[in-house]
Amino acid sequence: MFLAINFTMRELLLEIFNRLYKKFGEQHWWPADTKDEVVIGAVLTQNTAWNNVEKAIANLKKAGVLSLSDIARVNEELLKELIKPAGFFNQKALYLKNVAYFIKNHGGFPHLSKKSTHELRKMLLSVKGVGKETADSILLYAFERPVFVVDAYTKRVVSRHKLSEDLTYDNIQKLFMENLPLDVNLFNEYHALIVKLAKEYCKKKPLCKGCPLEGL
Ligand code: SF4
Repeated sequence: MFLAINFTMRELLLEIFNRLYKKFGEQHWWPADTKDEVVIGAVLTQNTAWNNVEKAIANLKKAGVLSLSDIARVNEELLKELIKPAGFFNQKALYLKNVAYFIKNHGGFPHLSKKSTHELRKMLLSVKGVGKETADSILLYAFERPVFVVDAYTKRVVSRHKLSEDLTYDNIQKLFMENLPLDVNLFNEYHALIVKLAKEYCKKKPLCKGCPLEGL
């Protein structure tokens, strides 16, 4: 079915959100109990599926290493061992330590929370191992800043629905942030719903039949 409706980009993005929300409901993201866990998960999830991250987090929890101060002090070899299920463990152990020291050396969350979103993003991006997606995940889910997180799933949906020809991170982020209200809850839920959509329907081989975005 093809809907012969002319949406503005804002209406289209809101229509997508409404359809996803209606189908999947609230996603309760980020799947973590503390801000520290959000940061740890945001690093561990680089280039791997979330179920691998869950195994690494379970190991960290069991070993009592699930805060950033624990990460900063723990022996690096032990850290590598604990996060092995998340892959790239040599790199990620280093990245986790970098981000843990960064937050610790800048007075922790209370102090960093006083920074503007722009400044904070710039600071996070200066940490080795923190790329745009990781920085934005930390900004949105740990610092509760209205920043849209773009991941491979977002690119896939944007591309398949021809929302933009330019599939660079910055352009996709701009697409959402310039056309939607800058709202933490909206961005939180939207990103989580796109992940759900990609896992259930918009897989490598898309299952368009019955997908909430079918015909859009
Ligand atoms: S599965 Fe098909 S209809 Fe659903 S989001 Fe992907 S491309 Fe669109």
